[in-house]
Amino acid sequence: MTDFTMQTDDQGVAVITWDVPGRSMNVLNLDSLRDLDALVRQALEDPAVAGLVITSGKKDFAAGMDLAVIAAMKDNAGDEPARGLFDGIMSMHHALRRIERAGMAPKTNAGGKPVAAALPGTALGIGLEIPLACHRIFAADNPRAKIGLPEIKVGIFPGAGGTTRLVRKLGAMGASPYLLEGRTMDPQAAKFAGIVDEVVPPDELLERARAWVLSAVGTDLSKPWDRKDYKMPGGAPYHPAGYMTFVGASAMVNGKTWGAYPNAKALLSAVYEGALVNFDAALRIEARWFTNILMNPSSSAMIRSLFLNMQALQKGANRPGLPDQKVKRLGVIGAGMMGAGIAHVAAQAGIEVVLVDSSEEAAARGKGHSETLLDKDMSRRRITGEKKAEVLSRITPTTGYAALSGCDLVVEAVFEDPKVKADVIGGLLAHVGPDCIIATNTSTLPISDLARAADRAERFVGIHFFSPVDKMQLVEVIRGRETGDLAVAKALDFTRQIGKTPIIVNDARFFYANRCIIPYLNEGVRMVAEGVPPVFVENAAKLAGMPVGPLQLIDEISLDLAVKIARATKSALGDAYRDDDVDRVLFPMTEEGRLGRKARAGFYAYDDSGERTGFWPELARRFPAADDQPDLKEVQNRLLFAQVLEAVRALEDGVLTDIREGDVGAILGWGFAPWSGGPFSWLDILGAREAVRQCDDLAARHGDRFAAPRLLREMADRGETFYGRFGSGTAKAA
Ligand code: NAD
Repeated sequence: MTDFTMQTDDQGVAVITWDVPGRSMNVLNLDSLRDLDALVRQALEDPAVAGLVITSGKKDFAAGMDLAVIAAMKDNAGDEPARGLFDGIMSMHHALRRIERAGMAPKTNAGGKPVAAALPGTALGIGLEIPLACHRIFAADNPRAKIGLPEIKVGIFPGAGGTTRLVRKLGAMGASPYLLEGRTMDPQAAKFAGIVDEVVPPDELLERARAWVLSAVGTDLSKPWDRKDYKMPGGAPYHPAGYMTFVGASAMVNGKTWGAYPNAKALLSAVYEGALVNFDAALRIEARWFTNILMNPSSSAMIRSLFLNMQALQKGANRPGLPDQKVKRLGVIGAGMMGAGIAHVAAQAGIEVVLVDSSEEAAARGKGHSETLLDKDMSRRRITGEKKAEVLSRITPTTGYAALSGCDLVVEAVFEDPKVKADVIGGLLAHVGPDCIIATNTSTLPISDLARAADRAERFVGIHFFSPVDKMQLVEVIRGRETGDLAVAKALDFTRQIGKTPIIVNDARFFYANRCIIPYLNEGVRMVAEGVPPVFVENAAKLAGMPVGPLQLIDEISLDLAVKIARATKSALGDAYRDDDVDRVLFPMTEEGRLGRKARAGFYAYDDSGERTGFWPELARRFPAADDQPDLKEVQNRLLFAQVLEAVRALEDGVLTDIREGDVGAILGWGFAPWSGGPFSWLDILGAREAVRQCDDLAARHGDRFAAPRLLREMADRGETFYGRFGSGTAKAA
C-alpha cells in the first residue's frame, strides 16, 4: 500500500489522493514524496490526462512533514551531512517545481497542465507547501481546519519552497506573520490573507477543483513568478518600499527573538537574499539556509523536545501500564487562584467539577473566574454562548464536602499551610469512596508528609499546576514515597484529558521546576548586589534566550513569596544555607513594601496601570555599578549554569528519572531557553568537557554553587552526552 494513489476520470482529470494507511492524519516522509513525484510525472506524460487534482482521502489534508524524519535527516545524510542534506532538499524542490511547471516549455511557458489542490481540512507545513506549488488552492469551508506554516515554532522554517513561494505570493511584509510567527488560520482567514484561492462547501470540494481544472486556460496555468511581468508585492529589497519592509522585518525579528533563535535569522536571510534573485535561484538559497538550520544543533534539539518528546510525554511515555483512569467527576477544594483555574480547565475538557471553598462567596468567585475566561473567549469568537453555558453548567460551587460523593479524583488547592491541608484532606475522606484518588497542588510541602493525613498513602499523589492554570502547559505529577501506580496513572490521565503535558518527578524540596528557577532568580539578584547593572542582567538573560529576565520574574512572582521561600529553606537547611547575600537585597525591599508587580513596586517601577516604566531608581544608588564589570558571556553563563546544574543535580538525586521530562519540563514550566531544547540538550550542545571546564572556572571565582556535579564530570571523562548516555528511555543517573 502506498500513501498516494491516482485515478483518472473519463474527462481526463487525474485525481491524486493522499491517504497514509493506518494513520488518522497524513504526514509526509521522503519515500512518499518520491511516490507523489512518480504519479505527477506519469500524469504529466500521459496525453489522456488534461490536468490534476491533489487531495486527501482523510478529513484533513496533512499535518506536515514527519518531524522524526527531519530529525533523522542529518544522521542519515552520510559522511558529508551538509551536502547530503542539501541534495535531499533540492530533490524535494525539484518534485514541487515539477508540479508547479506542470510540463510548461522552459522559455514560452506553453503546454502546461493545470494542477489544483483540494484541501478538505487542516493543511500545515509541507501540507501547505505542496498546495502552494499548485496553480489553484481550494479549501473546504471547515472552521476547524488549520492552515499555515508553523515550522518556526519547532526550530526550523518552511524549507520545501514555502518560504520562497509565500514571499513571492504575498510580499515579504504580507508573508511575515505566517513565516516568522508560524501563525495558522481557518480557511476563510487563509482566503482573506491571500493564501487560499477559494473556500467552498465541503461536499463540493472535489467537483469545484475538477471543474476548474477542466476550464483553466492561459495564465491560470502559470504562477505569477514564472511570468515576465512579475513584480514582488510590496517591492523587492532594492525598491524603496521593499527596503523599508526589510529594515522593519529585521528589527522586528531581532526585537522578538533577541537574536537567540538561529532559525529566525536563517529564515530572514533566505527571504532577503531570495527576493534579490530569480525564483529558481531563490529556491537554491532557501535550500542552503535550510541545510544550515538542519546542521545547527538547535533545530534537532528543538524538534526533539518541543515535538517528539513533548508528544511522547503527552501520550504517557512513563505511564504505568494500567487500564484507562480517565476522570469522570472531579472535586477541587479551595476556589482561589489555582483551584478556580483547575476547575475551569477540567470543565472545559467535559469533566463534572465540584468546587468547594469555606464560604459561598469564595466558591462562587471561583466559578466566576471561569465565567470571565469564557467571556474573553466569546469576545474573541473562539466559543459560542451555548458552549459557555455548557462549560459553566459543569461546575458546582459549594461549601460542603457532601457533594464530593461520587468523585473519582479530588485535588486540594487550599492555603499553603500543612495544618490547613491536613484538616481538609482528613475531613474529605468520609465523603468519598475508597477508590477515590486524592491529590494536592502544593508547591513546597512534602507529598509524603501530606499523604499521612490521607490515610491512604498509595492513593495520594501531587498534581502541581503552574499559574495561570489555563495558560501554562506543564503539570508536575509528584510521586510521594508511598504513592502507588494507580494514583500516578490517574494523575497522568487527568492531565491528558485537560490537554496539558505531564512530567513525573519524585518528592523532594521544590520538586523540579521551582528547584531550578530559584537559583536563576537568586543569581540575578546576586549580580545586582555585586554592582552589575540590572539592565545588563536582564538583557543578558534575554540574549541567552530566556523569555523573562530574573528581576522581572521575581517582580511577577512577588518578593514576599521569594522571602517566604527563603525563610523556609533557611530553616530547613540550617548551616548549609548559602543564599544570605540574596536575602540582604530581598528582605529590606520586602520590608519597604516593594513586593513586585502586585504592589506596583519592585525591582522595576510601575505606572498606575501596572506597566513597567523602568528600573526602580533607588536600585542604582543602593547598588552602584562596580568598577570591574563582567563580560556578557560571563553574566549569561552564571544565569544559565545556575539552572542547568540544578537540573543535573535533580537527575542525580533521582527527582527526575527521565532527561526528556527534564528538558520538556524546563521549557514549558519556566521557559528555559527554548532554542536549546532544554537544560540537558543545552549541556549536550556545549559538550560535557567544555561544561566542566566552565563550571571549574565559575566555581573558582563565584563559589561552590557552580561546582560540576559528579555525573557531569564523569560524562566529561568518558566523552558522553546526556542523550547518548540516557537515550530516550528512563534515565538512571546513579
Ligand atoms: P489562594 O489563596 O488564591 O486560594 C486558596 C483558597 O483556599 C482560598 O479561596 C481559600 O478560601 C480556600 N481555603 C482555605 N482554607 C480552606 C478550607 N479549609 N476549606 C476550603 N477552602 C479553603 O491560593 P492559591 O494561590 O490558589 O494556592 C493554592 C495552593 O496551590 C497552595 O498550596 C499553593 O502553594 C499552590 N500553588 C500555587 C501556585 C501559585 O502560583 N499561586 C502555583 C502552584 C501551586
